[in-house]
Amino acid sequence: MSKMTIDVVGRPLARTKSRLGTILLLVLGLGLLGFGLWVRGLPAFVAWQAARDHAHGLGGRPTSRVWSSEPAVVTAWLEQHGTPVPPLPDHAGSAGLVGAHYCSLVDRVAAHVVYQGEEASVSIFVLHGPVRAPSGWSASVHGVHVHFVRAAGRVLAIVGERHDDVRAALRGFATSVAAVDPPRPKLLT
Ligand SMILES: [Zn+2]
Repeated sequence: MSKMTIDVVGRPLARTKSRLGTILLLVLGLGLLGFGLWVRGLPAFVAWQAARDHAHGLGGRPTSRVWSSEPAVVTAWLEQHGTPVPPLPDHAGSAGLVGAHYCSLVDRVAAHVVYQGEEASVSIFVLHGPVRAPSGWSASVHGVHVHFVRAAGRVLAIVGERHDDVRAALRGFATSVAAVDPPRPKLLT
């Protein structure tokens, strides 16, 4: 008799416990997924990725790339690869256009236009994927300036060591950029 009692009482308890465990795991999983998606669109996280890749210029891992100082050639190459871009300037302050490539950031792929100068360089990233930043958002990441702008329906990240170069690149987009005069940069480091 006592054996039967244990059987009858034991089973529903075990079932309740395992159901609770499943629900907890599900909640935890959804929480992690939500957190991942939330982090993914954070402007600071995207800015960090762009600043990190900026240091590689057109080098780094071999990917599809074009070398040219002609904006028309670089624009045509990007459009052939499925990335329409606003008219690109041939210079960003002290840095001149050298080409473009596609690069794998941590959570996305970006078209990366590179300007090289004697002392400093500028990168313009045409971003795919979410960025929760208003046009004009800017920051300094490990001493590199990062500035987000919306131009021709795309979010661009303009990155450079010299603020003057970044601002010059922004002026290059003056016709298609909504907010050119940015607020003071936030320090993220
Ligand atoms: Zn790159």
